[in-house]
Amino acid sequence: MKIKTRFAPSPTGSLHIGGARTALYSWLFARQHNGQFVLRIEDTDSERSTQESSTDIIDSMQWLNLDWDEGPYYQTKRYDRYNLVINQMLETRNAYKCFCTKKRLDELRKYQILNGEKPHYDGYCRNKYNNQDDDKIHVVRFCNPKEGLVVFDDQIRGPIQYHNKELDDLIIRRSDGTPTYNFCVVIDDWDMKITHVIRGTDHINNTPRQINILKAISAPIPTYAHLPMILDSNGKKLSKRHGVAQVLWYRDQGYLPEALLNYLLRLGWSYGDQEIFSTKSMKQFFTLNTVSKSASTINNKKLQWLNQYYINNLPSEYVASHLQKHLEKNKINIHLGPRLDDIIQLLGKRCKTLKDMADSCRYFYEELNSFDDHSAKIYLNSNSEELRLLLGAVYIKLANIHNWTIEEIQKKITECADILLIHIGKIAMPLRVSVTGQAKSPELYMTIYAIGQERTLTRIENALMYIVNNQDKKEYQKY
Ligand code: GLU
Repeated sequence: MKIKTRFAPSPTGSLHIGGARTALYSWLFARQHNGQFVLRIEDTDSERSTQESSTDIIDSMQWLNLDWDEGPYYQTKRYDRYNLVINQMLETRNAYKCFCTKKRLDELRKYQILNGEKPHYDGYCRNKYNNQDDDKIHVVRFCNPKEGLVVFDDQIRGPIQYHNKELDDLIIRRSDGTPTYNFCVVIDDWDMKITHVIRGTDHINNTPRQINILKAISAPIPTYAHLPMILDSNGKKLSKRHGVAQVLWYRDQGYLPEALLNYLLRLGWSYGDQEIFSTKSMKQFFTLNTVSKSASTINNKKLQWLNQYYINNLPSEYVASHLQKHLEKNKINIHLGPRLDDIIQLLGKRCKTLKDMADSCRYFYEELNSFDDHSAKIYLNSNSEELRLLLGAVYIKLANIHNWTIEEIQKKITECADILLIHIGKIAMPLRVSVTGQAKSPELYMTIYAIGQERTLTRIENALMYIVNNQDKKEYQKY
């Protein structure tokens, strides 16, 4: 049997990380079995579905590299097909027209509630089909079996059963002629030859209804797997509107798709203690029946840890292609500074996201207009005479380098310290503040290398000017 799965989001908001995890598990299951994966947009809810949400979902899937073999299909484009099947079901008496008025249904509901019953349709029109009534306003209902059980073996939760008595006759076509959601899903899963339906646990109650319709139209019953929920850090259901829940939010915050996929994979599934999973190892080890039955809680720290791991371990050209977008957003001209590989190597150990990296690397590409006040007060202010001497000596040494390499830079700065009989630590901080404007920077020699010779020298000149001006000010204030 050729495995075929689908991801079937409703475009009523951005792609949520819960949805993305469902997509990942479905995709993974198809890919590990050399099967096929379908993307289907379930846009029958015309009031809540938007084109913008569909676009967001597709962009999110593409960014995550979850590729599909068929689709995106849109349910709103398949109404003729659904109606054709409904008409056939009316003919075969698997469905019937229901002419009950709103008033009757409201009264029925009230009565049932008063009697302590769960509100349900009582089948009033089920055996009353009358051709003459065809023009009257009606809905079409499915003839749900009245007796027996619906049993299915959920791949995650194990065997599940429902009594048909608990299920009433579902409306499959509204009075305006449009088919309803549960019906469209069934016909799509059938037409698209879906073998495994992997979806959120919030759909579990739809499953017995869908199985009954599939049986009625003699369609094969897929295998079902219902994934547990994802909760926020307060243990509440993750809301769709919450920024942290949306896939593209993670992209914009500087996460790599590999990190988010790895994180989503582990959110509800484990393989011993292993934390890092490449796509290849995901395909190798993932199994549906080892997915956890209980809800998982988001853990941003873990995601950050994974992101930093991938920033440092994926090929740097690849990471650079993602970093570039963040730099462009920050309007940093990457042609005016070091190669992005160098930035990744320099900042990879310090930054948890590419956005952090893009926000902290401006001084490699642009002129430094000022020094951080606090850092300058501490490191460019004390004992100015000695400091000027130190920085002056470093300036001359660095200006004389012909082959600008990290080793040469280190050698020359060490030589300065040796000649001046001072500890290298005494030079490092003032030099760091001079060339980066701040007291915190990545490894000094590499930073100086990446800033480049010309820029480094100009910055040391500026630092010297700053020291002189400050000295003058102090002298002036004495009088
Ligand atoms: N459209 C549903 C949703 O977005 C999924 C339905 C299904 O997978 O069967 O929650």
